[in-house]
Amino acid sequence: MSGQVSTPLAAKRPVHVLGPSIVFAFLAVVILIVGLLVWSGHEVDRVASDRDRALAQMVLEESIDRLGHVQESSTIWDDAVEQVRKRPLDLDWIDINLGTWFHEYAGMNEVYILSPSDRPIYAMRDGKRIIPENFIAVEDIVAPMVAELRKNDKTRRENDNYLAMLSPGVSDLAVLRGRPAIVSVKPIIGDSGKIVQKSGTEAIHVGIVYLDKDYFNRIGSNYGLNEARYVIVPGHGPNETSIPLQSRTGNVVGYMVWHPFKPGYDVTSSVGPVLLAVLILAGAAIYLLASRLARRTQDLEQSRSLAQHQAMHDALTGLANRAMFEARLESALARCRRHNSLLALLYIDLDQFKQVNDSLGHPAGDMLIRQVAHRLSEQIRSYDTVARLGGDEFAILLDEPENRAAIERACARIIAELERPFELTSTQAFIGGSIGVALAPHDTLDRTELTRKADIALYQAKLDGRGRYVFFAPSMDEDVRQRETINRELRSALADCDSQLRLHYQPIYSLESGRIVAVEALLRWEHPQNGLVTPDAFIRTAEETGHIEVLGDWVLRKAMHDARAWPGLRISVNVSPIQVRSRVFRHTVKRILAETGIEPTRLELELTETALMSASSDVAESLRSLRSLGVACALDDFGTGYSSLSHIRDIAVDRIKIDRSFVHAVGTVPGAALVEAIVSLASANGLHLTAEGVETLEQLTFLRSVGCHEVQGYYMAQPVAAKDVTELLQGQYGAGRIADILDAGGIRNERVA
Ligand code: C2E
Ligand code: MG
Ligand code: MG
Repeated sequence: MSGQVSTPLAAKRPVHVLGPSIVFAFLAVVILIVGLLVWSGHEVDRVASDRDRALAQMVLEESIDRLGHVQESSTIWDDAVEQVRKRPLDLDWIDINLGTWFHEYAGMNEVYILSPSDRPIYAMRDGKRIIPENFIAVEDIVAPMVAELRKNDKTRRENDNYLAMLSPGVSDLAVLRGRPAIVSVKPIIGDSGKIVQKSGTEAIHVGIVYLDKDYFNRIGSNYGLNEARYVIVPGHGPNETSIPLQSRTGNVVGYMVWHPFKPGYDVTSSVGPVLLAVLILAGAAIYLLASRLARRTQDLEQSRSLAQHQAMHDALTGLANRAMFEARLESALARCRRHNSLLALLYIDLDQFKQVNDSLGHPAGDMLIRQVAHRLSEQIRSYDTVARLGGDEFAILLDEPENRAAIERACARIIAELERPFELTSTQAFIGGSIGVALAPHDTLDRTELTRKADIALYQAKLDGRGRYVFFAPSMDEDVRQRETINRELRSALADCDSQLRLHYQPIYSLESGRIVAVEALLRWEHPQNGLVTPDAFIRTAEETGHIEVLGDWVLRKAMHDARAWPGLRISVNVSPIQVRSRVFRHTVKRILAETGIEPTRLELELTETALMSASSDVAESLRSLRSLGVACALDDFGTGYSSLSHIRDIAVDRIKIDRSFVHAVGTVPGAALVEAIVSLASANGLHLTAEGVETLEQLTFLRSVGCHEVQGYYMAQPVAAKDVTELLQGQYGAGRIADILDAGGIRNERVA
């Protein structure tokens, strides 16, 4: 067994404001933008770096060429040829024109002049003449260059130099005295063409410039190479760019390094923070928008599912509602059709719910309904369905029960559960329930038809006395049809009440005087085909269809009208609880009394126990107001309803009418004792007593002996037409006390025609 009471969507579910997809999408965009920025910065830097290296290389090569070019200013000169041939040398002249002069004029660090036989004949270092033998320190580097110059004089002329050379020469990078240097060798030749020298036999001028700190500083500032300097081995840091210093033979003599210019990095680092701020702002804006959107979507989703839940569930109990129940029933029937399986539809109606609701209030009624829902849910299996169809109506779907006996057991369990007391806040309530059962495929496989049949069975269960379950039977259909016919015909009868409706009156005798002290108005329907129809056949239908009010008003008016012919006689009129519950009822009664001129004290309203016990505040108020006028109130059919003897003193009535079932039982010892107890208890509480359905002299004698006040029954008189009442009343003049009646062998013989 499992409960099916589900609660409507409770608190809001925790909110995942942003879907992961939005977060990922945004992050992807951020990564893309940042990545693009970094990549393009990097690319720009790479291009700039390539350009710087090409530039540095070019500057270096140009420096090498320039040295040769500078040499040419003095080495292509007739005077120079002659001076280096002269012996002894005019060293002063050589200093000024080929030696120290080059130090001052072109920044050469060292100058050597070699004779045609490659012997050093002059040397200058740092602006000072030194002995030629110092050449030995650079000989290793210079000698091969001289040899090459002398040998390849022709090809060297065609060398592709940056600067157009006028004479051949060999220049190169080298490490001299542990320092990088440019070395250039040039032949000393004439400029006029008058001096003839065999190629390869010229004197040679050797110029050396050390690439010192100043040299690199100069290049750096001239060409935008930051902190250019010489290193033997370059570092690999990101802030260093280098090019190798390579001799013509491919020897790396060191590196020129400088701080690279990084326009990309500069742009990235200046734009980056701004871009980041923009992205953060955009991210925040997107986050806000998206979370608002997400929350709204979620709210929508929640209210949609809440609406869906509400559309399918009963708000009070959380059970399935009618819509959901019908959907389940439809699919269960489809299964039933496919597998030919059994399906039971139970319609349940609570028996005394209205009383609880009226007397204890709606909160108590709600509490009761919730407990009923819970108990019903406990009685079914997890795959069965229990639903609240409205008010105190419930339905259960037993899906594929084993057999009919299993259904009966379930019904019996439910009835027993509903009869157990319900604990309400301040009190206990006893209700009970009736169940109507229809089976598929046995009764039908159509949903509408199945529910109709369960409903008919429920109606029958209530008719049979409630607190029971009834399975649908085809004969019930016939009853329904009859009720429908009655209903239809009653409606047309009510269109003109006087034509088909009659009132009969049954005399009520005083056991003290033996006289008729009252008559009870009893409704008859003179049916065109069926003859006289008694109220049992149509009052209930009239109550169910709401015709009872028109009917009741007519009865009351007709009875009061007829009563004018019987001065002083009390008239009992049966009223339905539905009539009394209506707020206009007391006004209707007063108006009719006023219209007909009948004193209120002559009118007695008969209500059944059920009507009185279910007395809502409306009914109680109505009766209180009428009783204050003098209208009496009688409790009809006492003993057939729910009131017990102990309740007698609490009931706000003037009279009790003992039901004929008790009267018929006075022949038995317990029956006699019961009636005696009722009489003495009612008398002790100041209530009047009328015994109904007296059919024998023995019953009459007994009732009189126990002190019952009045009697009504076929033994004395049947219900008769109004004109017969007048006759009866006239006929009883002179009739004596009840003793005479009894002595004479009974009222019936003498009085009733
Ligand atoms: P009730 O108010 O208890 O009326 C008494 C019923 O018992 C009447 O049945 C009457 O004919 C019957 N009766 C009287 N003496 C005897 C007897 O000795 N033996 C037997 N077996 N029956 C006896 P009736 O006229 O068929 O009315 C049935 C019920 O219909 C009434 O029971 C009353 O509750 C209801 N009723 C009658 N007229 C009206 C009416 O105008 N309005 C409403 N709301 N209900 C009415
Ligand atoms: Mg009655
Ligand atoms: Mg009665």
